[in-house]
Amino acid sequence: MSETKSPLPAISDLDLAGITALVAELGLEKYRSAQILDAVWRSDATTWAGVTTLSKRAQETLAAVARFYSTETVEREDVEDGATTKLLITLSGGAKVEAVLMRYPPDPRRGRGERATICVSSQAGCAVGCPFCATGELGFTRNLTAGEIQDQVRLARQILRGEGRELTNVVFMGMGEPLQNLDPVLASIDGLTDPLRGGIGQRRIVVSTSGVVPGINRLAQVRPQVTLAVSLHAARNPLRDLLVPLNRKWPVEEVVAAAAAHARTTGRRTTFEVTMIDGINDRPDDAAALVQVLRGSDSHVNLIPMNSVAHTPWQESSAQRIEEIAEQLRASGLSVTVRRNRGREAGAACGQLAAERAGTPPPAAVARRRELLVVASAAALQGRRSPTPLAPSGPLTPSDPLGGGDAP
Ligand code: SAH
Ligand code: SF4
Repeated sequence: MSETKSPLPAISDLDLAGITALVAELGLEKYRSAQILDAVWRSDATTWAGVTTLSKRAQETLAAVARFYSTETVEREDVEDGATTKLLITLSGGAKVEAVLMRYPPDPRRGRGERATICVSSQAGCAVGCPFCATGELGFTRNLTAGEIQDQVRLARQILRGEGRELTNVVFMGMGEPLQNLDPVLASIDGLTDPLRGGIGQRRIVVSTSGVVPGINRLAQVRPQVTLAVSLHAARNPLRDLLVPLNRKWPVEEVVAAAAAHARTTGRRTTFEVTMIDGINDRPDDAAALVQVLRGSDSHVNLIPMNSVAHTPWQESSAQRIEEIAEQLRASGLSVTVRRNRGREAGAACGQLAAERAGTPPPAAVARRRELLVVASAAALQGRRSPTPLAPSGPLTPSDPLGGGDAP
């Protein structure tokens, strides 16, 4: 997916100061800055030509230096009687990501009005390679820019505006590991929380990580109001090594300690996510191990049934099993929610739709992959740690599956 020339910058990469500088550079009238910002974040326009507050000359001048949207194409699919909208987005260079918009009715019991959440992607593909995740199976394609992340939110806002609704929450739970693309993710959070741009409170933003410890530490320092979710999946290292290959670099104890430090620094409770996989991480022993590592921490546990993905033989745990585990955790004093997966009908979990579009690996590779997982999980369940991680079977391979910096 190499690009012949770099695309023009996206206008959503610029804040008011940036737009003001651009307007001066282009010789446009000063008052245009506020108009532009308003058009980018609060209008129904999808192109410069659609920004009716600007003169034709201003539209053309701007179109020559900045893209109004960084998305090349957007395919929309509405499921669950319109409660969920999936957006399959093609970015410059052909990288595909997805964003999922979820609408929730008011919940008077919890004193909540109507809500709408957009689940955004921070990378095309992901280098971490969790074997139950469709994105992990794809491997890593590239990092998204802040503008590309913010444009997923702008799309959601436009869709909702057409329905007379408002976007209330943003979760970084789409494709990619946000803390391995930290600077653009932080810049996008700045745009989303800027009252003149996204206008969303930091507390209404969730960053979900598979456990990039330095990233968790930095997030606590620089954006302390953002909510942290940690994808734990298993509390014992041999199994977590398999489920979240990054665990070989930052093992369970370090991840939980970083989350606890985050909670202390920020005063915000951490959510721990556990994708429930039948016969793999859903036994009483697994719950006991979770209790052991989370005891005393200010945390909440989300149990989520696994969505099936092509490359693994694994399936979701039964509803009854998930309830039993939830009860066991609650009995030990942990706060627990059992979550239903939104958008399952369209294969929404974590890049499934984009993975399908990327093409299916040959049946022999899938069969081999499944065999490897059976052997590896049998060893992990007996508490054996294997020295090497399983490489994803997808069409692309990560450059550094254990990389922990800003760029994988
Ligand atoms: N990379 C980050 C954020 C994106 S994944 C992370 O891993 O936290 C968002 C969530 O979707 C994670 O909790 C992940 O474990 C979960 N997920 C991935 N594949 C899934 C599947 N097949 N079924 C259910 N949840 C899945
Ligand atoms: Fe990456 Fe998250 Fe999927 Fe793991 S679960 S492969 S970290 S996107």
